[in-house]
Amino acid sequence: MARNIGAACRSCRREGLKLYLKGDRCYSDKCSYERRAFGPGQHGQARFKKLSNYAIQLREKQKVKSMYGMLEGQFRLYFHRADLQKGVTGENLLVLLERRLDNTVFRLGFASSRGQARQLVRHKHILINGKKVDIPSFLISTGDVVSLKEKSRANAGINDNLEAVARRGVPSWIELDKDNFKGTIKTLPNREEITMPIQEQLIVELYSK
Ligand code: SF4
Repeated sequence: MARNIGAACRSCRREGLKLYLKGDRCYSDKCSYERRAFGPGQHGQARFKKLSNYAIQLREKQKVKSMYGMLEGQFRLYFHRADLQKGVTGENLLVLLERRLDNTVFRLGFASSRGQARQLVRHKHILINGKKVDIPSFLISTGDVVSLKEKSRANAGINDNLEAVARRGVPSWIELDKDNFKGTIKTLPNREEITMPIQEQLIVELYSK
């Protein structure tokens, strides 16, 4: 399946904030954004230029795409799906993105980044309600139990990630049972629980042109 393999740290520097795409490195002093908090490339340090409305909307969309590691085509499909649902399209979009299995595995703390979570799913380490699911875009539903395959529970990296989740915290829509390597989806995420700095209305405006 196609995925975004662009340089992660460049995305953070381009968007002007930490997107936390590289796991533990993002929390260390090796973070590129901490060391070079200006845009990438030859003109990255050029004086601030006033952005047009279109550029602001485009940057917001690119930022969210990078956060969730998605390509344009996939992202547009999510937008269309969100647009068909009842309610506020921008909020629907964010909730759909949060419901992705790779995001859920990341939120549970099995992985230190969404990229790593995607790899765990693709490599068949993850079960949903006791059955293997290897599709990162699978959408979780209320009541689903997301767990780690028995054989994978001794993996030192995953155990380290679970320890680190204490630092990041598990969102209130998931109930983590750390000792049994599983999490239950108590309810679907809502907008208030998505605390990343996102102005989803700008994405709606961009795609509605
Ligand atoms: Fe972004 Fe993480 Fe790279 Fe820092 S280390 S620039 S937060 S991806």
